[in-house]
Amino acid sequence: MSLAQRTHFKKMLSALKAELSQDIDRTVHEMQVDATVFADPNDRASQESDISLELRNRDRERKLIKKIDETIVRIDKDDYGYCENCGIEIGLKRLERRWKSRGRSRAGSDRLLETAKGAEAPFLLLRSCTA
Ligand SMILES: [Zn+2]
Repeated sequence: MSLAQRTHFKKMLSALKAELSQDIDRTVHEMQVDATVFADPNDRASQESDISLELRNRDRERKLIKKIDETIVRIDKDDYGYCENCGIEIGLKRLERRWKSRGRSRAGSDRLLETAKGAEAPFLLLRSCTA
């Protein structure tokens, strides 16, 4: 990968990382504002399950941020975009396609965005020419 290409992927990964960090900050803030204690046990139960869902999402995002950091290190070592089985360079078109399909899925709701973020992990780890 050329320097320009590496810069390009690093820039996209940094943007994604910033987006995820903002999302984590925002949810933490919302959960603090939202800490109403409901009298109705049903309301309390649904609030608790909302919170545990949010916490799971945050946990996934933190893991994704860790993967982004690891991937940036790999880019710096010029170790990104190669198949770990056969060493062949994974086509840039293929890497780009993964990014673009993410862009399309983001047009939907917030939930869809969450799903898309979850689905990004495999491409960030794109290490095989057959994956
Ligand atoms: Zn391969």
